[in-house]
Amino acid sequence: METLLWLYIYFVIFVVGLCVGSFMNVQIYRLPRGIGTVKGRSFCPDCGHTLHARDLVPLFSYIFLGGRCRYCRAPISPRYAAVELLNALLWVAYAYKFMLHPLTMVAHFVFGSSLLCIIFIDAAHMLIFDRFNVAIALSGVMIAVDKFLCGNAGHHHHHHHLFPQDVTIVDRLIGALCVSGLFLLIAIVSRGKWMGGGDIKLTAAAGLVLGWKNMLGVLFIASVAGTIGSLIIMGAQNARAARSPVSQSSAETAAGHPPGDKLDQAAANNPGHDAAADTGGEDGEPAGHVVPFGPYLAGAMILMSFFGTEIIDFYLKLCGF
Ligand SMILES: [Zn+2]
Repeated sequence: METLLWLYIYFVIFVVGLCVGSFMNVQIYRLPRGIGTVKGRSFCPDCGHTLHARDLVPLFSYIFLGGRCRYCRAPISPRYAAVELLNALLWVAYAYKFMLHPLTMVAHFVFGSSLLCIIFIDAAHMLIFDRFNVAIALSGVMIAVDKFLCGNAGHHHHHHHLFPQDVTIVDRLIGALCVSGLFLLIAIVSRGKWMGGGDIKLTAAAGLVLGWKNMLGVLFIASVAGTIGSLIIMGAQNARAARSPVSQSSAETAAGHPPGDKLDQAAANNPGHDAAADTGGEDGEPAGHVVPFGPYLAGAMILMSFFGTEIIDFYLKLCGF
């Protein structure tokens, strides 16, 4: 009987995770395009047809429609179903880890979903929206409050199992400053070319959730993964540029201009879109950093939120502690 109850609870969390994933798809599609995310019906990006409730059932509509629009039969990007499924699985995993602390569990739902949105938006548009950083910071405050309340409720014999990551408030405050401070320094030294403001705010917010030890792990893992990923992506970009003579000549023309001139031009082409200036344009042109760092940071943050204790212990053992 108890097993059935647990299965039911995980099933409900999975379904709610799918529905929230569907809402996240709206954010991921509309935010970078400047479309309001609250009002307005969803529509097919190909034929513009308004989508009805039966077209918007998370995951199932995609499966039953065979991955195509009901109205124009244009293929729907599998990314929508992937975001929904990833979010639902992430929620179930956080529920498994933090079930005994509902407030901490919900805070991790907010944390994980915000990071998923950041991964998909930053990878495609090189933008990190502040609403996700704010949500992550608030989830850090929620976890700290939950721990404070439980700490005051008296010491249970199973107290240590309740908070697998023993992060104090001081750890969280140092966590908010250590990596973001380093990134701020890099941004100042490079005049905003090597590091964007979004990465600074993201690491500050996530530091409140993870604490400084986990944030050092995030920095290490994201740097290694980011270096490997950048090499692969830049290699692919160079191969593509070599194959197409048009983009090669435009790259040569761009190289002939002083960099400031080009950034001003990019800003002029995108009025009201000043983020384009510090990301070096949206066409993947070789200016400043061409590969977004946010997806690597966010991925490492999700990893450390699950296995931070184990990864840090493993690292300390390697070092002989
Ligand atoms: Zn359509």
